[in-house]
Amino acid sequence: MNKEDRRIIEFFVRLVAVQDFSTLAASQRVHLQEEAERLSPLTDVQALYTAGRKFFSSLERGGKAIVPFSLVLERMDGTITLGWTNTSPGLSLLSRLVSILIRTRKFPFRFCPVCTTLFAPRGRQLTCSLRCTRKKEKGKRKAEISAYMRGYMKRRRTRERERAAATQRALAHEKKSQQAEAKRHASLPPSPWKTDEERKAYQEAERQRLRKIYEKRQHTTAPQGRKEQ
Ligand SMILES: [Zn+2]
Repeated sequence: MNKEDRRIIEFFVRLVAVQDFSTLAASQRVHLQEEAERLSPLTDVQALYTAGRKFFSSLERGGKAIVPFSLVLERMDGTITLGWTNTSPGLSLLSRLVSILIRTRKFPFRFCPVCTTLFAPRGRQLTCSLRCTRKKEKGKRKAEISAYMRGYMKRRRTRERERAAATQRALAHEKKSQQAEAKRHASLPPSPWKTDEERKAYQEAERQRLRKIYEKRQHTTAPQGRKEQ
């Protein structure tokens, strides 16, 4: 693509990016008119806008665009050149654009994925501007962070589930051992005491009895024996 082609394409980008030509500020309209006239002196920018929008919107959606003039083959000496019939001078820029598209066989426009502005990408340019590239990177970073967070939360939930399951298992184990203990208890011969108080009273009485025996023994044996020596 040569410099002139590039200028035509970039001019069309600016022209068809206009949403509504009738509400365009006069200064902007004049600016577009001047730019068009530099490329093709007799351009009718209003007519070019209408035809260009129609042409682009058809192509952009991956469809067919009807060219508003007919193709003519012209033989000059040994070579055939392409031309167009009924091209009014006001629309000649569109016919030149069509020639470029036929020659390059590539759709040279792209809608910016960030701000939807139409632009003519250079090389592998993906967004309309540096600003949108930054925005996209930021969005990507955000997406990465949120993907990480999603993974983190998932791992955390799994961990929590595992912990809960472990607790459940521990509780079940404890319950089981309690049941086993209860079973063992039940299989023992019945306790001679009906209540805890009864058992404590018995134990206390037993302690008293043993103490008495012990005291009596001390009293009767050791101390006296030593005294006598
Ligand atoms: Zn953009």
